[in-house]
Amino acid sequence: MVRKLVERTLNQAAISYLNERQVDNTKCCFGSICHRGHEFQQSGYSIRWYSNRTCIDCAAEHVLREQVEHPERQKARYKKYYYSHREEILDRQNRRRREANG
Ligand SMILES: [Zn+2]
Repeated sequence: MVRKLVERTLNQAAISYLNERQVDNTKCCFGSICHRGHEFQQSGYSIRWYSNRTCIDCAAEHVLREQVEHPERQKARYKKYYYSHREEILDRQNRRRREANG
């Protein structure tokens, strides 16, 4: 049986919370409370990423843990990213350099 995930549009409180954390709120929605219990202000929901339905707090904790426990993975991931987005990155760097030079 496929468990259907609850999905609700964010309320105003959640939107300002995400703005404060500089998170793009259009990429998030309310979902059922995650297994770690990151409930958003007694709303009965966790804030989750649309893309993979992960709770944003769990995702953040995961990233932090990875940085501490497996710094080499981060490097490997960046390398992979770099090679698949090489043009884009170089383009951005060039543009930034041009802007810096006026
Ligand atoms: Zn969570």
